[in-house]
Amino acid sequence: MGITFSTDLAAPEGTTESPCLCAQMTAAFLSMMRGEDSDEIRAELAREARPDCPQCEGKGVEREPVRSPHRLDMNLHGFNVLRALGLAAEPYGQCTIAEARRALLRARNQDVRHLLSEDEVHYGAACEREDGAIELRPVRGHSKGLSRDDLARRVSAFEAFVRQAADAGAQVIHWF
Ligand SMILES: [Zn+2]
Repeated sequence: MGITFSTDLAAPEGTTESPCLCAQMTAAFLSMMRGEDSDEIRAELAREARPDCPQCEGKGVEREPVRSPHRLDMNLHGFNVLRALGLAAEPYGQCTIAEARRALLRARNQDVRHLLSEDEVHYGAACEREDGAIELRPVRGHSKGLSRDDLARRVSAFEAFVRQAADAGAQVIHWF
């Protein structure tokens, strides 16, 4: 299960602009990627953009809200990271910066063996393939385990996130 950490700091306001991929074959696309900007560049992007492009609506320039720098995504094993930290392993939660720092100390001194897991391959029932051969153990999927190094890397990422959030004036860490 994945989780995202964020803070009580307001997201920065405003939007950023970038050339849209639907106009990536133009010289103007490369110019704007390099940080150049002019009426000519925008005119060329608009001319070459796909008129029905959902990203830029035919303008050739995409606008996106500025993303908060204080976010940390853990796509896999988020709950086990919370468990290693001794924080509530639930879909939503929060703690103070001081609690997060104590949690980091705990995670470094706790026995985490019960949170670790190996990569796994999942097999389906025996079945007949299109070419008529019988496959006894068809592979249905893989799940990524959590090694000691993986967990340590995630705890270090959380530590860096907490440090930056505290430096920026955050009081509270949220996860969801
Ligand atoms: Zn577009």
